[in-house]
Amino acid sequence: MVTPDGRAAIGRRVSAPLRLDLDGAALVANWRWLAARTPGAACGAAIKADGYGLGARAVMTRLAAAGCRDFFVATWDEAERLGTLPKGVALSVLHGPREADMAVALAHPARPVLNTAEQVRRWRVGGGGACDVMVDTGMNRLGLSVAEATSGLLDGLGIETLMSHLACADEPEHPMNARQLGAFAGIAGRIGARRRSLANSAGVLLGPDYGFDLTRPGLALYGGIAAPGSAGIAPVVSVSAQILQLREIAAGESVGYGATWTAKRPTRVAIANIGYADGFLRALGPSGMGRIADAALPVIGRVSMDLLAFDATDADGAGEGEWIALDYDLPRLAKASGLSQYELLTGLGDRFERRWR
Ligand SMILES: *Cc1c(COP(=O)(O)O)cnc(C)c1O
Repeated sequence: MVTPDGRAAIGRRVSAPLRLDLDGAALVANWRWLAARTPGAACGAAIKADGYGLGARAVMTRLAAAGCRDFFVATWDEAERLGTLPKGVALSVLHGPREADMAVALAHPARPVLNTAEQVRRWRVGGGGACDVMVDTGMNRLGLSVAEATSGLLDGLGIETLMSHLACADEPEHPMNARQLGAFAGIAGRIGARRRSLANSAGVLLGPDYGFDLTRPGLALYGGIAAPGSAGIAPVVSVSAQILQLREIAAGESVGYGATWTAKRPTRVAIANIGYADGFLRALGPSGMGRIADAALPVIGRVSMDLLAFDATDADGAGEGEWIALDYDLPRLAKASGLSQYELLTGLGDRFERRWR
């Protein structure tokens, strides 16, 4: 069973002490802005990894209502967890069908993306219908080689979308972009498919030449800054956690595992209900910052599994149960921590209550 927020099978009976506030209007605005970058192409949405941590079902519902018709997940398990697809919506499963997926894949309305000669054979033998095909144009990750794809292997298949994936689109000047564009345009002319699709978020930002018939943004929908020229992208995710305990410590006392942080002055310490098991990884500690109203609360000490300490000296009105809004500025945190914006989103755990507005 899938709950309205698209996550746990069992509904919550108590409120959670940590929250993701998700801005549905910003999600839709990001999608529309991306769609307008490649005017000739339909704009789809990558909702794998549970909608990059936001909740795939909730994302799909909102974008489908806004007019998005093409969604992408990685696995058949993800496809199944989405539940019933909204009317008129197509879903593609990027990793294609393993033998163990075939029963589900043949019965499911989603299309497989065929990536290997073996997957093509498997889909034919199984009597599968419409499919998508991924061709590798230089990334050397998933997909048929150009030679395989043009060898006759695909003859007679009902290909809906021919795809390839860009390796370096987040670096607009990288020579790989133009090389892959050329290779894809070349092969797209030799393989019969109803539509062609090359660009992820950063690919969309490379310009209309990269749009073809369909784009596949993920990160930028969710407020990620995929590449330069993202002026129209608004944040979607806000992270907050409730204070569980406050304590006053003297100068010279330490906080947390390893006693890595020592107070230089009498300090008010707030212990909040979030930790690395929620995706707030230890690498985020040193640059971590929270806020209560106008007061800034730097993260102090080591991040625990379930708890995080803040210097709350400047938030002297705050009590137990108060909510701390964490600074979750994706590009800033990524730069400071060495984590990617993708990791910052997809790591957001199950203990958050996801609240859409
Ligand atoms: C994840 C993925 C996307 C979306 O990429 P973003 O960088 O998040 O926009 C598009 N296409 C494929 C094949 C993917 O695996």
